[in-house]
Amino acid sequence: MGNKRDSVVVHCAATPNGQHFTAEQIDQWHAERGFKRDMSIRPGYAKLQHIGYHYVITLDGQLHRGRPLEEVGAHAQGYNAKSIGICMVGTDKFTLRQWEMLLKLIQRLEAHLDTVLKLYGHNELNPRKLCPGFNVPAWVKRKFRPLDHNILEGSFL
Ligand SMILES: [Zn+2]
Repeated sequence: MGNKRDSVVVHCAATPNGQHFTAEQIDQWHAERGFKRDMSIRPGYAKLQHIGYHYVITLDGQLHRGRPLEEVGAHAQGYNAKSIGICMVGTDKFTLRQWEMLLKLIQRLEAHLDTVLKLYGHNELNPRKLCPGFNVPAWVKRKFRPLDHNILEGSFL
């Protein structure tokens, strides 16, 4: 409770680009890895009982809640206590709606928490990870414009 969040860690689901997967499926994978939420922290918040992320952004750009912010995530070893975990479905190509939602979510979180969040890609914190499949600092530097090769072609959107 009262965890001070100062950062966001961006992840990808490492699922085939352009294939739709749901937050429920990610929850199931995390269940298989032994993750377990503490449902007593905010009873009634989201129905996913295992997922390690706070948010999932699916191909259609929809935002799905995982853990509440009050609950420590399970997504970036050594950084969970102070960070918010966001997962984009895909591996390294995301729809324009996903890119838009990622930025919107970060802006909403900063307004809600009244702070400027540090933004990391998982691969910056753990050099063995390719996740999230793009360079977060470069994306920030480009004023949150994704590179062409990180945009899913022919996004149905
Ligand atoms: Zn990751």
